[in-house]
This record gives sequence, structure tokens and C-alpha cells, in this order.
Amino acid sequence: MTGHFDVAVLGAGPSGLAAALGAARRGLRVVVLEQAQTVGGLASSFEIAGQRVDHGSHRLHVATPPEILRVLADLLGEDLQLRTRNGRIRMDGRWMAFPLRPIDLIRHAPPSLAAGAVRDLVLSPLRARRPAADTFAARVRQALGPTIAKRFYEPYARKLWGVDAGELSSELFRRRVSAGSAAGLVRRIVRGGTGPNASFWYPRGGFGRISEAVADAATDAGAEFRLGHQVVPGTDVAALATTVISTLPGARTVALYGGDVPTDVREASTSLEYRGAVLVYLVLAEPQYTAFDAHYLPDPRIPVARLSEPKNYRDDPADPASTTVLCAEVPADPGGALWNKTDEALGHVVVNALERSGLPRPHPVKVVVKRIPNVYPVYRVGFERPLAGVEQWAAGRRELMLVGRQALFAHDNTHHALAMGAAAATCLRADGTVDRLAWATARESFRAHVVED
Ligand SMILES: Cc1cc2nc3c(=O)[nH]c(=O)nc-3n(C[C@H](O)[C@H](O)[C@H](O)COP(=O)(O)OP(=O)(O)OC[C@H]3O[C@@H](n4cnc5c(N)ncnc54)[C@H](O)[C@@H]3O)c2cc1C
Repeated sequence: MTGHFDVAVLGAGPSGLAAALGAARRGLRVVVLEQAQTVGGLASSFEIAGQRVDHGSHRLHVATPPEILRVLADLLGEDLQLRTRNGRIRMDGRWMAFPLRPIDLIRHAPPSLAAGAVRDLVLSPLRARRPAADTFAARVRQALGPTIAKRFYEPYARKLWGVDAGELSSELFRRRVSAGSAAGLVRRIVRGGTGPNASFWYPRGGFGRISEAVADAATDAGAEFRLGHQVVPGTDVAALATTVISTLPGARTVALYGGDVPTDVREASTSLEYRGAVLVYLVLAEPQYTAFDAHYLPDPRIPVARLSEPKNYRDDPADPASTTVLCAEVPADPGGALWNKTDEALGHVVVNALERSGLPRPHPVKVVVKRIPNVYPVYRVGFERPLAGVEQWAAGRRELMLVGRQALFAHDNTHHALAMGAAAATCLRADGTVDRLAWATARESFRAHVVED
């Protein structure tokens, strides 16, 4: 492909697509290589029983930067709908609105949880003065208090990442706990029913329409897409194009370079672990299961972390009237016991888990399962070192840029992924080479991303 392309983008998730669109619109010759037959990566949609579904609950957050939202609104028109959030969280056998809302909390919060949280709030100035260990568990306890830490964050962390909260880095706190402090949590709760977090953007036809629209625009701007094209170790990466934008996990990018990579970099890349997830879709022969879009289930005894009903995320006349689909997100280690269960057995696991959570027992007419290995980066204490090692190695390669959630081992949302891709494109010169200083500055700015749930 040498000489044909200025830019080769590896992976057609939101970050790769935004990079391809930005580069093509700047007149560069772009090729996108994607292993799947469709675009969108984790943020793509597909059809089950005549209905478009996503890879777990996906919403475009209102925190999306205006310049990104403008592009999407332009591409999707009226199909991009502003929706009101309607979720619930199960705590100590009770349902509370999620995002949390003051009146609902007063009515439904378990009394011991409410009393503990208020006591912790009063004591928060004292906690703030004491030094905290550099772990997720310690930072959550210091900022939000032991009650919320013990009853929510610690069990939820173990459930999602499969690791004790005390083994996770404090960086996870900064990136994932958007409230940041007890006062921040109170502010969020007070604004819960009316503030920005009360609504979200979602396109008719499934979340994947965002990526499809960006891919169509990139094609219109001249980018070439090669779907079903897996980039494998041994590929002559430098020969693909003047610049290669990899959105693949670090270990996969490093593996492309084979023996050229120093052993410590190879080891650093493989030490960055991901937690996987099994997504279990239940097709129900009824128009609607509940009126809620998502149910959050932090209880560690329940294998499902979140249940979503895609139909409730949109107002879409194309959705079948008499059936609905549920998606249960079950965090799991690739190759572990849950991962290896048959689809039928996983269907039973989920049906029982939902009933045990106080939800109506679903009666699926069909079960579809997707097993996804690279879902959650696991921020073990000290993960920053191997990540920096991989990034330094990449920065030393003239042709290579690491971009996006997988490549930069970030928990980021779709709007962050789109912003990273768009920023990468602005760092390309007219001849396709990278302005390294501009890219280093842009990359630093990504460290400020905070994930919205
Ligand atoms: C369960 C879940 C829920 C989420 N909910 C939300 C939400 O509500 N809101 C939100 O904003 N974000 C959400 N996200 C995050 C969102 O999905 C990601 O931020 C986004 O998809 C990241 O885009 P990306 O392009 O960086 O990576 P990816 O989407 O992972 O794309 C990487 C691409 O690279 C391709 N690839 C990998 N290896 C190769 C290879 N060897 N050759 C060719 N191609 C390859 C993959 O197939 C994939 O298409 C959620 C994520 C998960 C897992």
C-alpha cells in the first residue's frame, strides 16, 4: 500500500472513524482497516429479532463537546434524539432512581445507607485532612466516606474489574468517580432530576448509527474502508501509509512489529490487563419488559452488572411492536467459568439473576450471547508505568500514533474517543506526517477525561 495512502487507520471504532473523517476532510488519502464486517467497535449496533441492539447500555452523554455534537447533529439530523434518563439502581433490596434524585432518595434510600452517608458527609472535612493511600479504595473512602465506599464502590469495583478495590490505582478514582468529593456528590444528587446528567443523546436505529454516520461521511470525503480486514502480527506497518493511527489494544499494536520491539516494551504491553464481559441478550415476546432504560445491579452476589432495554432508549417506529430485547452485561474473565458456559446456561444465569434482583422473571423466546474480551481496562496499582513504556516506544516510531480507548488503555466514553480521533487528525501535516509536538500536547489533554456513567 506504500505510496497510495497518507494515513492508515487501524480499527473502525469511534476513535478510528473520527480520525479517518478528520484526515479525509483535510484532503489526505486515508485507508481504514477493520477486522469486523461493520464499523463502530464497542459502540456499534447489530440486529436481533428485527431490533437494533448495542453492546450493553450506550448513550451519548450531554458532556459531549459542542464541536463534536455539532458534527453528529449535522450528520444524523432529527434521528439524534435528546432523551430523558430513566434508570434505577438496586441497593439493599430497594430501587432508587439513577442518576440519584433528592426526593426519590428521601423516599427510597435504605435508612442505614442514608444515615451513614449523611454522617460521612458531615465528617468529610476531617477525612480530607488525613493522608490517603494511593489506591482506588482509599481515595473513595477519603472523598465519599466509608458508607458509600463499602456499600457501593468497593463491591461494584470487584464486580466490574474482578479485582479488590484496594488493588486498583487511585487514577481510577479520578477517571471514574465524576462526583469527585462528598460535596460534589451532593451537588450531583441535587441536580439529578433536572441537571445535564438527567438527559442523553441517542440516535434512532441504535447507538451504532453514530459510527455509521461518521463512516459514511468519511467515505464521502474520500476515505477507503476495508472491512473484514484483520491486521495481524507480521504486517509491515510502516509500509501501510506515511502515518499509521492504531486504535488497537497496545499489546496488539506492539505484536504487529514482531521482533523489532524491545522485550521490556513487549512485556509492558501484555501486562496491561482487560476485564471482559459476556453480553446476554434475551428476546421477549412482549412489547416492553419495564419502562426503565437501564437497571444498575451493584450487588456482588448478582452476576449481572447492568440490564438495558434498547427499545426504551429511543423513539423509533422501526422497532417491532410486539417483541423487546434485553441486554444483560455480565463482567467475566476471558476463558473463566462464566465465559465458558453455553449460551443456554448463560440465559438461565441471567433469568435467575434478574428474578433475584426483584425484577419480573423474563421468559425469553431466544437467547443470543456475545463474548467480548477487551471491555474494561484494569487499572491495577502501578499500571501507569507499563502504559508509559508502550507510549514512549510508540512516540519513538516516526509513523505510529496510538489513539482511542483501547490503544491508550482509557476508560473513556464515546465522545472522548471521537474527540481523540478528531484531535489526531488535526496533528497531521499536509504530507501525512505527524506534528509530534502538537500530538504530545493533545495526548496530555486526554488525561483530563472523566467518564460519565
Ligand atoms: C459495556 C459498555 C458500555 C458503554 N457505554 C457507553 C456509554 O453509555 N456512553 C459512551 O459514551 N460510551 C460508552 N462505552 C464506551 C464506548 O463503547 C467506547 O468509548 C468506544 O467504543 C471506544 O472507541 P474506540 O474506537 O477507541 O475503540 P473500539 O470501539 O474498541 O474500536 C476498536 C476497533 O478496532 C478493531 N480491531 C481490533 N483489533 C483489530 C485488528 N487486529 N485488525 C483490525 N481491526 C481491529 C475492533 O474490531 C474495533 O472495531 C461503553 C463501553 C462498554 C464496553
